[in-house]
Order: sequence, then structure tokens, then C-alpha cells
Amino acid sequence: MGNWKMHGSLAANADLLAGIKAGAARATGEVALCVPFPYLEQARSALSGSAVTWGAQDVSVHAQGAYTGEVSASMLADLACSWVLCGHSERRAMHGESSDVVAAKAATALAAGLTPVVCVGETLSDREADDVERVIGDQLNPVLALGAEALSRLVIAYEPVWAIGTGRTATPEQAQTVHALIRRSLTEHGAGQVRILYGGSVKASNAASLFAQADIDGALVGGASLVAEEFLNIAAA
Ligand code: PEP
Repeated sequence: MGNWKMHGSLAANADLLAGIKAGAARATGEVALCVPFPYLEQARSALSGSAVTWGAQDVSVHAQGAYTGEVSASMLADLACSWVLCGHSERRAMHGESSDVVAAKAATALAAGLTPVVCVGETLSDREADDVERVIGDQLNPVLALGAEALSRLVIAYEPVWAIGTGRTATPEQAQTVHALIRRSLTEHGAGQVRILYGGSVKASNAASLFAQADIDGALVGGASLVAEEFLNIAAA
């Protein structure tokens, strides 16, 4: 799953979407793109009928009303989105999104028929303080409280904050350790089959070793999703 973040223009997107669409057929798994809100219609028009699905990078907790600048889950469903990122670390850090708000966003997305991709991850200081398990637990708990049925319809993305956009990927072993922890929690809540993506400087050169880990089911890819060939090589891995 690509996350374009706040990158793109109509012209640049047209080339990128065409390139990804043309190459996606050789991926054996699912290929998806989370694009900026203004480009969702462009993604829908370019990708409809292809192997690539699309989604948004955030959603409002509110259904409708006086919430200037917000975008509701039903609006995303109107644009045939399949996915929405909830609680990306950039939103947690820059927009103060708490784990309760993130879980509420996931619930709103589920109610509109979207698949939320709930992002969790520790900072470098959390890791250095040996506090990873507690931090991930605190971020997951409000989502786990949504219950097994809701959990079975969402995706978790483990994205260590220190690895996002830094070129510093978690080693496959570091990532697997946290994925196993997340898997254990999901299993205890009746949802052991939930897909868990890894995110943080994933590239074609490190994707295969990450995907070889038992509990890594795919990747959430930022920078490398802006280059069709690189993204497709990750998908092929
Ligand atoms: C992300 O934005 O979710 C991400 C993982 O970014 P990058 O791949 O650039 O580290």
C-alpha cells in the first residue's frame, strides 16, 4: 500500500498512476494507493477496473456537519475508496490525534464500508527507553476494544516513527518482534488473521527480507510509492 502523503499534481499523478496500473498485474498480492483528498477522483478515474485499489490518508470522526476542512467516511465511500489510513504517526504528532480518536476514526470508516489501516509505532526515545511494548499496547487498546468483528475488517500498520522517511529501516528481526506482539494481542481478541503491514523506509532492496518474516503481511510505503518502478518492485516482492 502506497502512501503518497502531501505529494503530487494532476500531471505528475497521471504518469505515476498509469505506470503503477500497467505494472500491477505482475504483483501477486494486493496493490493499493492512499492519495491526497483532491486526487481521489483522479485515482478513481485512472484505476477503476484495474488491479489497484485506492483510499485516503485520513477521515473525520464525524458523519457530517459544521466541521470545516474535514472529510467524512461517506464522502470517501462516494469516491469508491477501499481504504483509509487512521492514526498515521504524522497525524498523531502534528495534529494531536490520540489513540481514542484514531479508534473512533477506524469505527467511522468501518461503518461506511471502508477498510481502516490503523497505524501504530514507537518513537526512537520510546525504543531507547525499552518502552516499545507499552507504547504499542496503549495505541492498540482502544482499537482492540472495537471487538473481534470490527477487528476482522481492518488492517494494522506497524510503523516505527524513527524509520519513517529516514532511510533507517527496522531490521526484519526488529519488525517481526513487534509484529508478533501485535499478532498476540489480536489473537487474544479473536482476530489473529488481521493483516499487519510494516512501514518505515521500505524499498525494493529490503522488501523481500521483511516479507519473509512470519507476521509481516505487507508494507505501507511512503517515499518509494512515488516512483512507479520502485513501488512495483516492492509489490512484486
Ligand atoms: C509512511 O509514510 O507511512 C512511510 C512508511 O514512509 P516512508 O516509506 O517514506 O518511510
